[in-house]
Amino acid sequence: MPGGARPVVPAGRVLRLPRQVPRRAVRAVPGRRTGRADGPYAAAMSDHTPEQLAEMPADWKRALAVVAHPDDLEYGCAAAVAAWTDQGKEITYLLATRGEAGIDSMDPEEAAPLREREQRASAAVVGVTAVEFLDHRDGVIEYGTALRRDIAAAIRRHRPELVVTLNHRDTWGGTAWNTPDHRAVGRAVLDAAADAGNRWIFPELVGQGLLPWNGVRWVAVAGSSSPTHAVEAGPGLERSVRSLLEHRTYIEVLTDQEPEAYCRTLLTSFAEAAAPRFAGRPAVAFELFPR
Ligand SMILES: [Zn+2]
Repeated sequence: MPGGARPVVPAGRVLRLPRQVPRRAVRAVPGRRTGRADGPYAAAMSDHTPEQLAEMPADWKRALAVVAHPDDLEYGCAAAVAAWTDQGKEITYLLATRGEAGIDSMDPEEAAPLREREQRASAAVVGVTAVEFLDHRDGVIEYGTALRRDIAAAIRRHRPELVVTLNHRDTWGGTAWNTPDHRAVGRAVLDAAADAGNRWIFPELVGQGLLPWNGVRWVAVAGSSSPTHAVEAGPGLERSVRSLLEHRTYIEVLTDQEPEAYCRTLLTSFAEAAAPRFAGRPAVAFELFPR
């Protein structure tokens, strides 16, 4: 992402991670990568209130997961996706960009196809074969009707009951600032869930054969600092590690740690951070917006 190298976890937030997570695991390598604030899930999770998280609803068949960048779902909720595909649910991934601005040392033209390949491979590890890209520009995604229309069109095409996205709020909790792409896409997803059901919003979509779909029952936001629900991470955790590991080029410039150890340490710590609010079970937490 443009803007030069920034710490993945802003200063001050690192201290809130579990002690067993090496500080190295959650810091960008200055000059080697353009920073992206995907890391502060753990910081967000540590902002919890004492109340318990509810089980995510299970009475659905199709989900559409819409995020800004390759790797957003792997840092955010791949263990939950693995559990869902194990149960026979259909999940489609929709990426607003190809993450072409995510590697400082690599030209976007070279990075885009590489990151697309890595995203498809990481999706396959958790049982997702449908991966689509909207080709908005990485780093400068604009919230607006064009983005809402693209997402509403995808919702009408795939007819999901559950839509998943990533933290749409200004921060990851406290003062850990979120990125503009995550904010724009997250907010547009929450809006497009309603747009998709109204034939008079984006009527041109009806002309393309995309009839209204008012069947989205929930939007689940991963990486929220105000989670309400969770999915047990245990059964899908190992696959989520391998799924994140498929973003190998990206991870190798992100950290000097051994990539697999980096992925396992990070995702385990995120899942364990949710456990105190989920009867002690490591979990992937979501903020659920029912419709
Ligand atoms: Zn991202």
